[in-house]
Amino acid sequence: LQLEDKELLNEMFKVAGEIKKSIYGKRVVLFAPLYISDFCVNNCVYCGYKKCNTFKRRKLTQDEIREEVKILEKMGHKRLELGEDPVNAPIEYVLESLDTIYKTQNENGNIRRVNVNIAATTVENYKKLKEANIGTYILFQETYHKPTYEIMHPHSLKSSYEYHLNAFDRAMEGVLFGLADPKFEVLSLMMHNEHLEKKFGVGFHTISVPRIRQAEGVTLENFPHLLSDEMFKKVVAIIRIAVPFTGIIMSTREDEEMRRDALKFGVTQVSSGSSTGVGGYKQREEGKSIEQFKTSDERTPLEVLNWLLDEGYIPSYCTACYRKGRTGETFMGLAKSGEIQNMCEPNALMTLMEYALDYGDKETCEKAEKLVNEEIIKINNEAIRKFVIEGIVKLKEGKRDIYI
Ligand code: SF4
Ligand code: SF4
Repeated sequence: LQLEDKELLNEMFKVAGEIKKSIYGKRVVLFAPLYISDFCVNNCVYCGYKKCNTFKRRKLTQDEIREEVKILEKMGHKRLELGEDPVNAPIEYVLESLDTIYKTQNENGNIRRVNVNIAATTVENYKKLKEANIGTYILFQETYHKPTYEIMHPHSLKSSYEYHLNAFDRAMEGVLFGLADPKFEVLSLMMHNEHLEKKFGVGFHTISVPRIRQAEGVTLENFPHLLSDEMFKKVVAIIRIAVPFTGIIMSTREDEEMRRDALKFGVTQVSSGSSTGVGGYKQREEGKSIEQFKTSDERTPLEVLNWLLDEGYIPSYCTACYRKGRTGETFMGLAKSGEIQNMCEPNALMTLMEYALDYGDKETCEKAEKLVNEEIIKINNEAIRKFVIEGIVKLKEGKRDIYI
């Protein structure tokens, strides 16, 4: 991360880009966040939802969740990331909400995978989440630097560094970049991953790379380690090289330009059309809302999808793995042997076609169809190629949710 030599840096970005291309091809997975409660018992210095901020807080009822989900489905989303707090939104509420989300359908839209971002919790609760068919469990360590951790989390439930740090030993991630020295954070993240690999045979499934943003009651001047764009790109490239088989997620905190660069040499999943406010999708349709942080990429999911197509990517709404039981060690085995590509690519093509048919305009449909036709003939495995060709025909005939 200290590297400044332009030539060496370009070499590093090039290697990261090649690794990304060889493992993930042209695919980019899309998702959206869903906030169901903004009550909070913590006081994280960097967050707009901290308990000392006074604004009218909300916890969505199951009916309100249904409404939000329907709006997300209308945008074509299939994969959500759910977030909340442990006191006002106990595990029972989260489980009930998961059930509501999975059962809510809007015309032929449905949510097929919900990843859950809740506070560090007990083994028993992690088991309950698994039984509720979550995709992955997400937890932000925020910072690995203990003194910074303690300063950033005053007088709150979250203030136990160790309980938080060991959460992945109990569950089976990300850092909020900008809190502590990024060199320390990246090294710690990699050591943490190594520890999980040694202990459980599986490291992080995905790593998120958020940077601190402006939010209600948050003054950026108070953070001495804010990352420049250049440093941030280095972080992404280094993570890509260090853990090639771990997906990297970038949210709409970053603008179009940063997302474009980061996709080139590391990022594999991006959110689109996001609202980070509770009930925010409905409020956005109606007017104003308080969000957890400001987003920088405000394009609609369809705009993001068209942009990805124009940039030469294959946007994917695939949610197949957890539904097929490809999780944990099984998933990592497939990822490391490269076999997963036989599933990701066909699923990306079929979900792209499905999206274009259901939510795209004429132009999107034409672009998607052209790309799908170009890519199908490149599938080496004959049986898989046949499955995809037949799948596309079935999709056009009205069948949905076809995957390997
Ligand atoms: Fe609360 Fe989470 Fe924000 Fe911390 S980061 S103040 S726990 S909502
Ligand atoms: Fe992700 Fe699995 Fe789909 Fe590949 S096949 S995109 S790894 S869910």
